[in-house]
Amino acid sequence: MTVTLPSGETVPALGMGTWMMAEKSSLRAAEIAALREGLDLGLTLIDTAEMYGSGAAESLVGEAVLGRRDEVFLVSKVLPSNASVTGTVRACEASLRRLGTDRLDLYLLHWRGGVPLSQTVEAFASLVSSGKIRHWGVSNFDLADMRSLAELPGFCQTNQILYNLSRRGPEHDLLPWQASAGMPVMAYSPVEQGRLLGSAVLASVAARHGATPSQVALAWVLRLPGVIAIPKAGSAAHVRENAAASSLELSAEDLAELDRAFPPPAGPEPLEML
Ligand code: NDP
Repeated sequence: MTVTLPSGETVPALGMGTWMMAEKSSLRAAEIAALREGLDLGLTLIDTAEMYGSGAAESLVGEAVLGRRDEVFLVSKVLPSNASVTGTVRACEASLRRLGTDRLDLYLLHWRGGVPLSQTVEAFASLVSSGKIRHWGVSNFDLADMRSLAELPGFCQTNQILYNLSRRGPEHDLLPWQASAGMPVMAYSPVEQGRLLGSAVLASVAARHGATPSQVALAWVLRLPGVIAIPKAGSAAHVRENAAASSLELSAEDLAELDRAFPPPAGPEPLEML
């Protein structure tokens, strides 16, 4: 399964997140092995951020992709407090050093802060010109933010937002708006940080397919074209389990059962974030 970005480039619909990685040295080897397993299985989009572990997650990703950089579509994010014209460039250079690479494939503004958007977009354009990033985008932008961004020059490639069975608010307006703009959504926390996995409804749908709750939660996010999911998994076993979600097709009966347990939004809802 792939998703096409506005740039025309194709990326895997299922990638890997890295928040909470590099927090415990005892887990480091397993986390690196998990990311490498994911690359072997085609989960070649890796999402990280300067915020995660104050740079430690980027360093771990750098180690995981050592010698395999060209296989990876590497995504990182700048903190809003660094998102001025010069601050963004400095933050990007620091991310590149930690990641051990000369370019990011996609650089996102982590959320909208006090710096005017025009400044961050200007910095992104200069980073594209210097070859330090290939593309840019945003995260945690609601519809009003996306409309403000659309007034500015340049090509935002994605908006990375909280979207999963228990967080369906974006279906009301943001997802349709992004679909009509041809701009994919990158769904973060697709298994609600594990909180969805004990659901009896997910277990019942999973049982019909000989699948697992995690696979159902991910297949549900991936049911829409133009949606990328980036689950974080700290073990190779979890990565293997999640990778198989790409080939799980939910039936109309499954979707109806999931709709009853996790209803779609009845009207506009503020964009949630974690
Ligand atoms: P996820 O919904 O991806 O859940 C991660 C948790 O689920 C971990 O505890 C993991 O455990 C567990 N898990 C994953 N797969 C399985 C499985 N097959 N079986 C059992 N447990 C499983 O939450 P995240 O918040 O991590 O979101 C994913 C990524 O999105 C982040 O890592 C980050 O890259 C990005 N993100 C971006 C945000 C933003 O503001 N832009 C905000 C939040 C996240 P284990 O580690 O043991 O495998």
